[in-house]
Amino acid sequence: MIITGVDVVRVPVPAYEPPFVWRAGLPGSEPAADGAWLVIRTDAGVSGLAFTLRGAMLQDVIDRRIRAELVGRDPIAREFLWERIWELDRIDRFPVFVQGVIDVALWDIGGKAAQMPVYQLLGSYRESIPAYASTVTFSCIEEYLDVADQCLELGYTAIKLHAWGDARRDARLSEALREHVGPDVPLMYDGSAGFDLLDATYLGKALSAADYLWYEEPMREFSVTAYSWLAERVEVPLIVAEVAEGSHMKTADFIVAGCAAAVRTSTGLRGGFTGAMRTAHLADAFLLRAEVHGPGVANRHLCMSISNTTYYESLIDSNPVRRPADVDAAGNAHAPTLPGVGYEESWVDGPPALLAAVLAE
Ligand SMILES: [Mg+2]
Repeated sequence: MIITGVDVVRVPVPAYEPPFVWRAGLPGSEPAADGAWLVIRTDAGVSGLAFTLRGAMLQDVIDRRIRAELVGRDPIAREFLWERIWELDRIDRFPVFVQGVIDVALWDIGGKAAQMPVYQLLGSYRESIPAYASTVTFSCIEEYLDVADQCLELGYTAIKLHAWGDARRDARLSEALREHVGPDVPLMYDGSAGFDLLDATYLGKALSAADYLWYEEPMREFSVTAYSWLAERVEVPLIVAEVAEGSHMKTADFIVAGCAAAVRTSTGLRGGFTGAMRTAHLADAFLLRAEVHGPGVANRHLCMSISNTTYYESLIDSNPVRRPADVDAAGNAHAPTLPGVGYEESWVDGPPALLAAVLAE
């Protein structure tokens, strides 16, 4: 099989509904965006797809560097192409998601050619997995407790907070939530890099006392040393390397430094399935979990293929709480069923019109 064409199909994406907020200082839900489908065509009549909300950035990289590298290559040579793009990155400094978008489209080709969902092509470990309710930021402690009740009622068995980014206020929320749900519900906290070491330590001690399962990204992941120092100061398990660039290679430095109780992995920020699985296997070598960052069909495949992972992240973006369609009434997410990645599972009337026109060419 040979790659015959690489297209970027720009599509307008409406603003996220309902709108929501993250911690103070961060932009909230995505406004109307200029998204894009990456379409990698082959001479076998199979096309690979991947999607990003950063259409202009993807278009630039594909037009300037990537198309010429891919056309004429074997799309099954994913390991070769993954390494090749890292080599190009040395000059180009690609945005971190770019490697993932390309790799996901190549795996889509591989799965469609084999007539298998990607998780089976990777090697399946399970067919379903518990989802945790991963909250956006709500207005006050009382609203969080109400949201937590709704999540448990809807079947979720674990809850992760994204809160205000104020260490003392977030500590009070974390303690109140533990008191509210009792000792048996696994709770996690995600700081979205909102703190310095002093505040991260203060909050970490509160999370330790409240028996949180993990403490995620309290600080920017630029300094492995800061994370090492935090790990010396708090007992709550740190889960690290969600956004740090360099895929499994940078993750290894966090592990060697001794600060990782677990690591993050994802198609979006580890370089597609290829980088995400390298990260998971790296962690496995140290008996560490690699927990999958973010919802979406691509990450659902990862959850089914990584032995050392325990949850699917399901975003709770509104109050009243809506349970997304990919989580069932028992709080479980299930293996995708379509060949390849299966973006098609969410299309009600076929592909979006602009994409359909390109696929029909
Ligand atoms: Mg996170």
